[in-house]
Amino acid sequence: MDLYEHQARELFEEHGIVVPAAEVTDSPKQARGIARRLGGRVVVKAQVKTGGRGKAGGVKLAADPAAAELTARQILGMDIKGHTVGKVMLAQPVDIQDEFYVSYVLDRAAGRFLAIASAEGGMDIEEVAATRPEAVARIPVDPAEGVTSATAARIADAAGLPPQSVDVLVRLWEVLVREDALLVEVNPLVRTGDGRIMALDGKVTLDDNARFRQARWGSEDTAHEDPLEASAAAKGLNYVKLDGEVGIIGNGAGLVMSTLDVVAGCGARPANFLDIGGGASAQVMADGLSVILSDPAVKSVFVNVFGGITACDAVADGIVQALGTVRLTKPLVVRLDGNNAARGRAVLDAHAHPLVEQATTMDGAAHRAAELATTA
Ligand code: GDP
Ligand code: MN
Repeated sequence: MDLYEHQARELFEEHGIVVPAAEVTDSPKQARGIARRLGGRVVVKAQVKTGGRGKAGGVKLAADPAAAELTARQILGMDIKGHTVGKVMLAQPVDIQDEFYVSYVLDRAAGRFLAIASAEGGMDIEEVAATRPEAVARIPVDPAEGVTSATAARIADAAGLPPQSVDVLVRLWEVLVREDALLVEVNPLVRTGDGRIMALDGKVTLDDNARFRQARWGSEDTAHEDPLEASAAAKGLNYVKLDGEVGIIGNGAGLVMSTLDVVAGCGARPANFLDIGGGASAQVMADGLSVILSDPAVKSVFVNVFGGITACDAVADGIVQALGTVRLTKPLVVRLDGNNAARGRAVLDAHAHPLVEQATTMDGAAHRAAELATTA
């Protein structure tokens, strides 16, 4: 789960990283009062779970409380890359001398964390990384060892950050560990005119596997997550939204992943990952189908089941029952193989739903589903 900037700011503050004084609101009127409390001049910042707010007009300086109210009114409700701004943070402006970039991110392939740092932070860090990779230092961090002062000094040195940032780098690592984060990013980390190091923006991604001990963020709105993923999560489904047009249901994560590959190999694009696991009950099948069918991008659905402990006839019964509760609006291609496959196929044949077809092989089914999706 990604945190909002104001939540990241709160964590940084708790771990002793210097941040600007700030408050959050969803009301322009309150924005005026907050600006008054903060000294009049404020930066008004859209709170959305996406970057590039500055370039999108979601970060603006307001000269006085009246301007803060006006600016908050402009930014609230604004659309930034598909995210509607529901809240703004008002922060005391900072006299920026230099902007740096620092982050820790999990490097799954290497089984380590990676510290990424640059003396050229700010809004164009992606461009710096693309055009002058030498300006961005990448230092591996052993998760068991963590970021000690010595490691932090190496990171600062490699990136050309000032010596005062060493302390921030150590504290930022503490944020990552204590808060169960997979990513912490500060861009910009700034040096102020009077030589202080401050975090002016923060992105934190928490590890959802640790959600049970991060209850503090649990009730914060999830409205900005993908709505299909949110509805699948509410049904307890293992669903990930993808960009294509062939809906996928399979049993077992490995089978589902290879199903995605086979569909892609047939020239179509999978619309989702959905693993219904071993049970494949009518309820799970109905829930899965209803989520997939509510995705307007879906043109056909491919159900790929290999019967093991769960026999294919039980799965076929589940599909038939699910079709009694979910109105099928798109063609469904079913491939049943493995334990009791013949009986399972007979159950579906007997049901004879006009939008359901069967294929005996995974490749054949994928081709058919891809064909139905591209000609639909
Ligand atoms: P992002 O565009 O979503 O990454 O939003 P940021 O919070 O990073 O803000 C974008 C830019 O606005 C930063 O890179 C800063 O240059 C600038 N900015 C943000 N806060 C302040 C501030 O307090 N004072 C000044 N002078 N500039 C700020
Ligand atoms: Mn930023």
